[in-house]
Amino acid sequence: MNEDFVTFTIRKKKNIALIAHDNEKPKLIQWCKDNYEILKEHSLYGTGTTARMITDKAGLSVKGYNSGPLGGDQQIGAKIVEGVIDFVVFFSDPLTAQPHDPDVKALMRIAQVYDIPMAINKATADFMLNSRFMAEEYDHEVINFKKSVDDRAETM
Ligand code: PGA
Repeated sequence: MNEDFVTFTIRKKKNIALIAHDNEKPKLIQWCKDNYEILKEHSLYGTGTTARMITDKAGLSVKGYNSGPLGGDQQIGAKIVEGVIDFVVFFSDPLTAQPHDPDVKALMRIAQVYDIPMAINKATADFMLNSRFMAEEYDHEVINFKKSVDDRAETM
């Protein structure tokens, strides 16, 4: 057995983070409306403004964190680390400079570290939401952080 990795399970009921930059918000809200029947079966989270708008306009219950530029993306990253969020749909804006660009990069990086499915555009989100894994549990290998800390503390 390779102790460098541990098996995590993304449950049938996913914990989905929904985020959109301002120019992309209308597209994400429409996507939520189009996929209402699927999304309502899962637990939804989001950055402040996105969460509020999806709740108001698409009628889905979304737990909101802070607004993205005020740390919301970092809160979502922290929830990935804690194992609370295990699926991300982030309609980011590729054509507009964002003041919180480092936070967005940090969120992408932490999603990679924890092997979390993350869509950064509508096509990927469509493929993810229509994957057979949406209706199943999904086991994946994540770095064994306890072992990593033990090893580092011993060797430094
Ligand atoms: P918002 O944040 O949902 O509060 O607008 C999203 C973002 O810009 O990261």
